[in-house]
Amino acid sequence: MNKRILVTGGAGFLGSHLCDELLSLGNEVICVDNFFTGRKLNIISLMKNANFELLRHDITFPLYVEVDQIYNLACPASPVHYQFDPVQTTKTSVHGAINMLGLAKRVKARILQASTSEVYGDPEVHPQKESYWGKVNPIGIRSCYDEGKRCAETLFFDYYRQQNLDIKVIRIFNTYGPKMHPDDGRVVSNFIVQALKGEDITIYGDGTQTRSFCYVDDMIDAFVLMMNTERGYTGPINVGNPDEYSILELAEKIINIVGGKSRIKFFPLPQDDPQQRQPDISEAIKKIDWSPKVKLDDGLKKTVKYFNDLMSS
Ligand code: NAD
Ligand code: UDP
Ligand code: UDP
Repeated sequence: MNKRILVTGGAGFLGSHLCDELLSLGNEVICVDNFFTGRKLNIISLMKNANFELLRHDITFPLYVEVDQIYNLACPASPVHYQFDPVQTTKTSVHGAINMLGLAKRVKARILQASTSEVYGDPEVHPQKESYWGKVNPIGIRSCYDEGKRCAETLFFDYYRQQNLDIKVIRIFNTYGPKMHPDDGRVVSNFIVQALKGEDITIYGDGTQTRSFCYVDDMIDAFVLMMNTERGYTGPINVGNPDEYSILELAEKIINIVGGKSRIKFFPLPQDDPQQRQPDISEAIKKIDWSPKVKLDDGLKKTVKYFNDLMSS
């Protein structure tokens, strides 16, 4: 491909996998990250690649680089982290999007936004299609993330209509895999780390709430396919694995894979925690010829191995 590509949030979980993939496809990659939740460990193996460059930068401030494509991933994604400094979370999504769109406008770059299934909030329709507008609380503890991401989508579509920018918007559903931070706080990493340590598995609520979990390699394929669709195809497009599991089923699977003697313990459900989530991916099948390949059990085994190696090193 041989393009110069900016990845914001490139030291995070998804961003580091994406940088790796883009380099292996023959591109130059500029990784921008403020290391709020990202880690040098995730990109250390890329540092010796002459086509890789790292900039410590917060995207709420303007950025001047010359690139052909921008993947805008910068934003904490786990509730514990995005609720730590909610004003900064909204700034990252909103000011960050304005800066990256301004950059894309100046250098005429194609720009892809990492949006989220959270734009659907606690959905009333199931599974969720792109045409669903969502049910989101504007003033709750998740709002900084949900509304920030919704506003970023608005900005992307207004720059598209007003400035004719070449935009792509993907709505990512829960994704897991190696390189998640052990303290990330999301359910898959929490349960695996707890099981490996022989600690109690912390289920919030009664565990009947559902999520659909996509393995990271499948997700990265979707990113690159979407970025390279024809100009004028903007999305938004759902990307995720439609296989839906309750959180209780997930806990049991992880206990079985890890073995050990962890027990399940129940804790209060956080405010506005969505009850059900499952992507309708017919648009992705049709438009980018993509559907996930990795089954949950296989992906969990690989992720358990990653955390096991990390914790014993
Ligand atoms: P992550 O927390 O591992 O990565 C986010 C990265 O952004 C981190 O490296 C962090 O340091 C960086 N960052 C945060 N604020 C920044 C700022 N102001 N300036 C520069 N860098 C900043 O999370 P992730 O799972 O890799 O998520 C990546 C993107 O995908 C996020 O935009 C997230 O909203 C989106 N997403 C992820 C999932 C998922 O399940 N993993 C689901 C939906 C959407
Ligand atoms: N911007 C940036 N890098 C660039 C060009 C613009 O970070 O290469 C920022 C700039 O700070 C501006 C924002 O993007 O605030 C929006 O740019 P746009 O051109 O849309 O608006 P304007 O500059 O007119 O405010
Ligand atoms: N969850 C849980 N225990 C944990 C972490 C999360 O039961 O240790 C639940 C959480 O309440 C939610 C689901 O698992 O219902 C997925 O949470 P996560 O933070 O991974 O993603 P999101 O809620 O953003 O989809």
